[in-house]
Amino acid sequence: MKDKQIEKLIIEESTRQKKVINLIASENYVSDDVLKALGSVLTNKYAEGYPGARYYGGNEISDKVENLCKVRALGLFALDENEWAVNVQPLSGSPANVAVYLALVEPGQKIMGMHLVHGGHLTHGHKVSITGKIWKQIPYGVDKDSEVLNYEALKELAKTEQPKLIVAGFTAYPRVIDFKKFRDIADACGTLLMVDMSHFAGLVAGQTYPSPFEYADIVTTTVHKTLRGPRSAMIFSKKDARGLPQKIDKAVFPGMQGGPHLNQIAAVAVALREADSPAFKKYAKQVIKNAKVLSNELAKLGWRIISGGTDSHLILMDTWKNGIGVSGKEASLKLEKAGIIVNMNTIPFDTRSPMDPSGIRLGTAAETTRGKKEGDMVKIARKIDAVLRARGSRRE
Ligand SMILES: *Cc1c(COP(=O)(O)O)cnc(C)c1O
Repeated sequence: MKDKQIEKLIIEESTRQKKVINLIASENYVSDDVLKALGSVLTNKYAEGYPGARYYGGNEISDKVENLCKVRALGLFALDENEWAVNVQPLSGSPANVAVYLALVEPGQKIMGMHLVHGGHLTHGHKVSITGKIWKQIPYGVDKDSEVLNYEALKELAKTEQPKLIVAGFTAYPRVIDFKKFRDIADACGTLLMVDMSHFAGLVAGQTYPSPFEYADIVTTTVHKTLRGPRSAMIFSKKDARGLPQKIDKAVFPGMQGGPHLNQIAAVAVALREADSPAFKKYAKQVIKNAKVLSNELAKLGWRIISGGTDSHLILMDTWKNGIGVSGKEASLKLEKAGIIVNMNTIPFDTRSPMDPSGIRLGTAAETTRGKKEGDMVKIARKIDAVLRARGSRRE
């Protein structure tokens, strides 16, 4: 690069990424091909509109790129193009979710989503997000004792509140979600069911986590988490008389954004093809195996794992332990000094603040991409335990 300042920073970041153990549950490492597509000349092109209906000339190739990406997206999740549509233009997960609400929920109407501190995402209607300002969130949480979803309680809440849309799919819920039960809840009050599979999309693609497509009306996802693609998002919607895909397309463009990022769409297409392979299925299986081992080892070492374990790539761990441990913030700082990167996280019914919560969130997607196996997880668990127990670390 001619720009030595930025070049140096990129090299520094690359070195940093290589030398740490990365347990951030929402991160991953993309392939060189994904990086090549992202860094391609496709970034030079304006392509406002959709394939076959652009507002600028010269989009013959853009159309091919976007169409190929859509075919691969439907193919990866085994969806029939007569039943499902996909929009691959959202710039990231948050704008994708906003676009769905913009398309289907009138301002002021209710969206039922999981509370942030129980593992929901900001864009599921939290008040600090635009989704909580334009729409009214009906928050739900996990059961206090089991720390898993209580579908009966959700059904009662939905029947009472009559939301326009229910969101299932979370950022810090380690368990499998029963999508059929969510469908029953949505049907009981005639509401739309949106599944935000951002975190576990790669596990669905790898057939190691239940697929939401049989039950959802809309499925949104980021591409950059377990799916191991570039930072981007997709919105899948059911094709039927309700016209969901048309409304969603309009909400994405011109509702939310201008020109799509074609380089990003090409990189998504590359990632989708990579995920459609036996090697990726093996990867997804290993991600879950690793998470289970990490979770079990930490539990054996005396740490409380929220809900008692995990069915996915992520683990929520109570580091505070009613004051005998360390706070989530302290834990993440100490671990970072020891070369282990995690993020602090609230735990359900947290008594501490989100700025310094009671727990940390761990995920195995990134380290599994780097070839880590069960034995490595045992070592990582021991290291985490040693760091958190180190002298001066506990408030005895
Ligand atoms: C990550 C995530 C998002 C938001 O994605 P961004 O690309 O960070 O905007 C939305 N929903 C869920 C469940 C997520 O995990």
